[in-house]
Amino acid sequence: MYKREFLKVAGMAGIAAMAIPGGIFANDRAPFAAQKAPFTLPALPFAYDALEPNIDKMTMEIHHDKHHAGYVNNLNKAVKGTAFEKLSLEEILAKVTDKDAAIRNNAGGHFNHSLFWTILSPKKSDPSPDLKAAINASFGSFDAFKNEFNTAAKTVFGSGWAWLVKNKQGKLEVTKSANQDNTLMAKLVDKTATPIMGLDVWEHAYYLKYQNKRPDYINAFWNVINWDEVGKRFAAAK
Ligand code: MN
Repeated sequence: MYKREFLKVAGMAGIAAMAIPGGIFANDRAPFAAQKAPFTLPALPFAYDALEPNIDKMTMEIHHDKHHAGYVNNLNKAVKGTAFEKLSLEEILAKVTDKDAAIRNNAGGHFNHSLFWTILSPKKSDPSPDLKAAINASFGSFDAFKNEFNTAAKTVFGSGWAWLVKNKQGKLEVTKSANQDNTLMAKLVDKTATPIMGLDVWEHAYYLKYQNKRPDYINAFWNVINWDEVGKRFAAAK
């Protein structure tokens, strides 16, 4: 389903892609996962101040323009002249080992942030009936899911992410990762799963506004989730 839609738009993409930095597909899943070096910074799908007051403008500017751009630039440098140079971002994640620290950190950083921007939105939305049903089946209730996700996000020690993932059995799970790791890193996780939604809990994601109050940032995140995109990722996940 996803692929057909992608191909349909791809034909019209030429002119628009030139006009939009990061490409017309910046708000879609496959393009950043399927992208190969040289990697590029996808455009934010909304204005820097669009998530105010939940996530402030300056945080978004620095987070996207400096931190995410840094992962992209460093990933391009790290893959140069290596066996990873010709692989897509998703293939790099599947093959990277603990011997390739620069590629692990920067490929993870590029993927995780590309995903993160797409699952945020200033527009109010609700989980689709399908996603709601899957959440109920996996966690018992939406509140139970929310509690589990919040606990994961609060208890990441130091820098990392909280995740909602779809496992190979098709069930949803809450996980957390250190640094820029994610569940697509097949050589580094016990079992792979597809990230559906992620929350960046590095201090750079919230410190300017929330300082040491990470739980307040986590609560604010629930006001700006793009449930349409989370639902699309859920439906597309293998
Ligand atoms: Mn970040």
